[in-house]
Amino acid sequence: MDRELRLAVLDALGELYKAGLVTGTSGNVSGRAGDLVVIKPSGVPYEKLKPEDLVVVDLEGNVIEGNLRPSVDTPAHLEIYRALPDVGGVVHTHSVYATVFAVLGRELPVYTTELADLFGGPIPVSSFLPPGDRGIGLEFAQKTRPGRYRALLVRSHGVFTAGTMPADALKAALIVEHSAKVAYLAELLGTPNPIPPDEVQKLHQRYISEYGQRKESDG
Ligand SMILES: [Zn+2]
Repeated sequence: MDRELRLAVLDALGELYKAGLVTGTSGNVSGRAGDLVVIKPSGVPYEKLKPEDLVVVDLEGNVIEGNLRPSVDTPAHLEIYRALPDVGGVVHTHSVYATVFAVLGRELPVYTTELADLFGGPIPVSSFLPPGDRGIGLEFAQKTRPGRYRALLVRSHGVFTAGTMPADALKAALIVEHSAKVAYLAELLGTPNPIPPDEVQKLHQRYISEYGQRKESDG
């Protein structure tokens, strides 16, 4: 398994920890290259993780490389990869504000342009499923909008995000948590208005096309 992907997964794990989106051993990140997936091992604290601790599994969950057990959430990650060939990275956290919406069984409304930019609509919420259940991956594929960034609140549990690369899934997790915090505080102080769906679409389309141009100019 190429070292670059291991480092990308490790980097996203470190950023989640630094941002306070994960504590202890909860949460995980994976990245895909072809038919192989690099994923966080189960039960190793973030500050002790090394590149060689990451576990490589195939899309059926067989361990290909590594001496540790893969994350208990591995079946959900693999289901996302199997269902969505364009996804190259998956992040799962119990970040506080996103989990508040997940506990309430509420989708996250589009109150900020940032959420509209990345996701093009509200963040949906799943039905209740036990942690690690592959059904989380199936609902992820059904309920999230196609695009570079995807996110699903998992009822009574937390949030899964995905992207083209592990760094995109990380960005999605950071923006969902920030937006959930803003939504929580805004609803505490008043009655915020969601951005109208047609404006959400305009913002999202503009963001996608501007990203395309940046990518071209970056060579
Ligand atoms: Zn979890």
